[in-house]
Amino acid sequence: MHLRLHRTLVLTVAATLGMMAFAEAPEVIHHRLNGNEGGPHASFGAAPTAGSTSALTSPLKNYGGQVMTTPTVYVIWYGNWAQGNGTDTASGQQIVTDFFNTIGGSPYFNIQQTYPGSGITGNVNYGGATTVAYPYGASLSDANIQSIVSDAITGGHLPNDATGLYFVLTSSDVNEASGFCSQYCGWHTHGTIAGSNHRYGFIGNAARCITSCAAQSVGPNGNAGVDGMVSVLAHELEEATTDPDIATWKTRRGAENGDSCAWTFGTTYLTANGAYANMKLGTRDFLIQRNVTFRSTGQYCALVK
Ligand SMILES: [Zn+2]
Repeated sequence: MHLRLHRTLVLTVAATLGMMAFAEAPEVIHHRLNGNEGGPHASFGAAPTAGSTSALTSPLKNYGGQVMTTPTVYVIWYGNWAQGNGTDTASGQQIVTDFFNTIGGSPYFNIQQTYPGSGITGNVNYGGATTVAYPYGASLSDANIQSIVSDAITGGHLPNDATGLYFVLTSSDVNEASGFCSQYCGWHTHGTIAGSNHRYGFIGNAARCITSCAAQSVGPNGNAGVDGMVSVLAHELEEATTDPDIATWKTRRGAENGDSCAWTFGTTYLTANGAYANMKLGTRDFLIQRNVTFRSTGQYCALVK
């Protein structure tokens, strides 16, 4: 069965495609709607784009599928995360771990509570991580990502969890050949693994293509590639929560919540190392894209509900 992946478009392609009308593949439907916030996207190195504060003109609707009321996130670190390049490092992994341990119940993620009738709690469980080297090499296919998740579950390295959301996070020397860096920065989908439906996704270290998959060249935690990944992780996390099987909260054209607010950050501030950030989770500053919140007057991209 054909699986539709939902992808975080690269920054530069978003800026270009947002202004174009053309025949589209599914990913491009995604891309066109990234332009709905109006105005150009952030140019790399400048202050991140705040984005529109008007109600969305292409609102999300509930198509009747499931949501993940409280996802349990599992991470599979693929490749080599012990490199001397300043980004594929243990301290880089810690940024992601800290993000998953603090995003649940935050003002930002409590936006998810506003989806009518969904029962989404705004909480996130972090279920732990496992590490693999390069069992499928350094150039992966979409099918390889599913195999990596399947191997982790069937090999007993991660729990077989129906409420799980499994992210394959690759080091910067790994490509995802279906379009990482050129078409998207990450994606989520679902599929049958170990005999039942599982939700999973891919996000690569943005250091591989920093001008395409990050909004700035300096990260608030001193690791521009991983700091860039965190915004994409938030995007895929909120999409997987509200649309885990690509059958629930979407626009008429198939865009999800994260797509409607991609590459827009609201009000930002400068951190001590010169990076921009827009929220604090735990002890860390992050620059994370906005998400769609439901209010009595409509749906908006925002950082809080
Ligand atoms: Zn998306």
